[in-house]
Amino acid sequence: MEFYFLGTGAGMPSKQRNVSSIALLHPKMTWLFDCGEATQHQMLHSPIKPRKVSTIFITHLHGDHIFGLPGFISTRAALEGTTRLTIYGPKGLREWLEATLRVTGTYLRYPLDIIEVEAGQTYQQEGFRVTVEALEHRFLAYGYRIEGEEEKGALLVEALQELGIPSGPLYRRIKQDSMFVFDGVEYQSADFLGTPKPGVKLAILGDTIPCAGSIRLAQEVDVLVHEATFADSEEDHAGRFGHSTARQAAEIARQAQAKKLLLTHISARYVDQEQRLEAEAREVFQESYLMMDHQSVVIKG
Ligand SMILES: [Zn+2]
Ligand SMILES: [Zn+2]
Repeated sequence: MEFYFLGTGAGMPSKQRNVSSIALLHPKMTWLFDCGEATQHQMLHSPIKPRKVSTIFITHLHGDHIFGLPGFISTRAALEGTTRLTIYGPKGLREWLEATLRVTGTYLRYPLDIIEVEAGQTYQQEGFRVTVEALEHRFLAYGYRIEGEEEKGALLVEALQELGIPSGPLYRRIKQDSMFVFDGVEYQSADFLGTPKPGVKLAILGDTIPCAGSIRLAQEVDVLVHEATFADSEEDHAGRFGHSTARQAAEIARQAQAKKLLLTHISARYVDQEQRLEAEAREVFQESYLMMDHQSVVIKG
């Protein structure tokens, strides 16, 4: 599983950074978080296939996070995308998207589901649990927490062999079922399985100032993706416009006990000064990494 950063800039595109979009690539699916203008152009230079994208999560309706949706949606149809596409996002997403598709005569050959989310809601999507929390951006904005299912522990083969239970199809059933019978005796499968492996936990936040919602979403995640629009020197400015500094993002990661922090949504004013933002974040949280367009980060699970 990996994150692939399609656009890491804030507000407007620069030559170095396109506006927001992040892909989550999994053997079974491809998800997008936000779809700023020209996201489909960025995909042309990436391993991501539009028809493979099954779900899109929109953090908020500012243009730098959604103006790429209509183009992406229609290209997906043109590129033989026939499977269902589900889009989660704030209230207003449906009205905007349906009007745009209708007015432009865009015809999709696949089912499109638009789900307008609210804070505190939880959804099941393709085997993952998705939790939504409100952020603080002077505009309706959300973050998403993604949790994979806990995996059962490994078979304790020695314990099974001590009872004379031979390897074979029964071993597979022990992993699948809660109990099994051998030689007329009933056993609990859990007694023959090691410690369960926790599912992956990720938090992808939209634009926000530091807030309680961010900490709830990021609690003990493996990876937190957080905006870092500004450097320390612009902290007042960041707060006035509903954004965070890299250091504030790191503070959230530290408080939430996240394992790794990926910084994105970087203002174009810091071209060639990215190290500065990363260094400021690392003073607070060592595992901070500032992302570039077309950078990918492998995640466990
Ligand atoms: Zn933005
Ligand atoms: Zn915004």
